[in-house]
This record gives sequence, C-alpha cells and structure tokens, in this order.
Amino acid sequence: MTAHAPQTAGQRQTVLLPDSIDEAVAALLSTPAAIPVAGGTDLMAAINAGQLRPSALVGLGRINEIRGWHYQDGHALLGAGLTHARMGRPDFAALIPALAAAARAAGTPQIRNAGTLGGNIGTADRTGDALPVLVALEATVVIAGPQGALREVPASHLLGGLDRLRAGELIGFVRAPLLHAPQVFLKATGRTGPGRATASVALVLDPARRGVRCAVGAVGPAPMRPLEVEAWVASLIDWDGERTLAPEALAAFGDYVAAACIPDPPATSATDAAGTPGDAAPALSSGALHLRRTVSVLARRALGRALS
Ligand SMILES: Cc1cc2nc3c(=O)[nH]c(=O)nc-3n(C[C@H](O)[C@H](O)[C@H](O)COP(=O)(O)OP(=O)(O)OC[C@H]3O[C@@H](n4cnc5c(N)ncnc54)[C@H](O)[C@@H]3O)c2cc1C
Repeated sequence: MTAHAPQTAGQRQTVLLPDSIDEAVAALLSTPAAIPVAGGTDLMAAINAGQLRPSALVGLGRINEIRGWHYQDGHALLGAGLTHARMGRPDFAALIPALAAAARAAGTPQIRNAGTLGGNIGTADRTGDALPVLVALEATVVIAGPQGALREVPASHLLGGLDRLRAGELIGFVRAPLLHAPQVFLKATGRTGPGRATASVALVLDPARRGVRCAVGAVGPAPMRPLEVEAWVASLIDWDGERTLAPEALAAFGDYVAAACIPDPPATSATDAAGTPGDAAPALSSGALHLRRTVSVLARRALGRALS
C-alpha cells in the first residue's frame, strides 16, 4: 500500500492506495475519517463543490481483483471497480445486456471511462442508471468487511436504505444472475444528448421462473418494482410458445407500471359547502402526469422490445 499526504487548500489530506480489498478495509479501519474513492466522478465533484472535506481518501484504483468479473453458479460476480466503459463493451453486453445498455447511457465518455459500478451504488443517486437494472435482476451486493468477512445483501435493500455499509466495509462485487434471455434498459432525459435520467425502466425476462421483472428508476429515492403488475403480465405470456403480447396488453402494462410507481395522491376528506363530508377529488400535478406518461411509454417499449 502506498500513502501520500498532499496539501489541499491549506488542509493536509492523506491518500492511501491499497493493492487489495483486505488492505483497503484495513486502511478504512485504521483511518475512520477516510472515504473510499473509485473513479472519483461523484466524490471529487462533491469535494470540489465544498460539500465534503475528507481528511483522508482510500483510492480503490489499484485493486485488480475488483476490475473484472468471473462466473460462479450461473451468476456473474462483477467487480465494483468495473467502469461504465468496460460494461458497455460487446462481450459484457452479451452477458448482461440491460446493464451494458445502462452503462452506455451513463454520462459522457469521460464519465464512463472513470465512473464505476461500485461508485454508482455507493452514491445511490436516484438517477444512477445501473441501479434499476440491479434491482430488476434481483442482484446482490457482496460487501467486504474486517478480517476477510463477506456479507451479501440484496441490491434493493442497500439502495432502499434497509441495509447500510458499516464502518470499514467496502462494496467488493455484485452478484448478477445470467438469465440468457432478453433484457432492456431505457432512459428518458430532460434534454437531448447525454444527461441524467428523469425516468428509467429496466426490464428482464426470466424464462426459467416464467417471470417478468421491471424496475423504474429516477422517479423515487430508490428504484421501484411494481410486483403485482409484473405477476399479471407474466401470466399473459405463453412461455412455451410465441412470447408475444397484443398492443393493448403492452399499453396496459405501461399504464399499470406508471400508475403503480406514480400513484394518485391520497383522497383527502373534505366537507362541502353544505357541510356534508366527502372525498376531495385527487389530482396529479402536471409534472407528475407528464412523468407518469413518460414511465408508461418506457415500460411499454421495454416490454415490447424484450418480447419482439
Ligand atoms: C457530469 C456527470 C454526469 C454524470 N452522468 C451520469 C449518468 O448519466 N448516469 C449515472 O448513472 N451516473 C452519472 N454520473 C454519476 C457518476 O458518474 C456515477 O455514479 C459513477 O458510477 C460513480 O462512480 P465513481 O467510481 O466515479 O464513484 P466515486 O465518485 O469514486 O464514489 C462515489 C461514492 O461511492 C463510494 N464508493 C465508491 N466505490 C466504492 C466501493 N467499492 N465500496 C464502497 N463505497 C464506494 C465513494 O465513497 C463515494 O461515496 C455523472 C457524474 C457526473 C460528474
């Protein structure tokens, strides 16, 4: 492990550069104020904007074991240090097409060259493109901790705040199933060209379990899965025959997904002019209606493409 102590804006900052996950965990434990940094696309932006002033950083860029992937029991173990650029290449796209599509849609080429899968999860921003894909895949996150300990949690738990990284822990790998079936990631942005998602949809077919899994990103703090809609649409598909659906069913799927993720506001009890209690008509704001339409179109298209 190498250590540097450059002076930034009058403040001494230690930078530790471990060569292995175990060394990185040890560095985090020995320097509790230290923050891990992978590609730095999110972290350095926060430091440069003055939102963070860590006295120590643990750079993960030298840890070879988390830069690639390997196979285990029908799954791929994806290193946290995989960059978006690497995940966007054809060999990776052949394995996990939706994650490759999300990686290709993330930011500019510079961001994709530096930004990593682990950093996308670590930041857990609602616009993180990889995140709905991980949730739709029902991927798990392998977390490395002190004394070589590993624990594995569903990505949805980590992103939804049901579980958190503890002191001295690092995201080591993501365990993603190899489904060998169509999967799609689609993203809407507020402007043309690269941009953060205003809404995104990841959809995967799981023929072995006769399942359709769909996660909607960017419209809530964490990706959302409309479980009842998934079960309904899966029951319409002839899994042993032609996997096609009528346009009306695709459209209904889109609408149901959107309504499940962007529900009507709760009815409020009101008293009318005559003093009779009643329910005030719930109304979605125009922004929410627009978002609902966007999600509906993305979900309909995603399912249509997966089944075509
Ligand atoms: C201009 C710009 C455009 C962007 N556009 C997009 C976009 O379109 N889509 C998108 O999804 N993202 C986008 N991003 C966000 C960013 O590039 C991604 O979230 C990226 O994946 C972050 O990875 P990183 O390696 O750079 O993370 P870092 O900045 O190094 O780290 C981010 C956070 O994760 C933590 N962390 C990193 N690795 C680990 C680990 N192994 N274990 C535990 N914690 C860890 C860090 O401590 C930090 O809190 C954009 C960013 C910028 C600056």
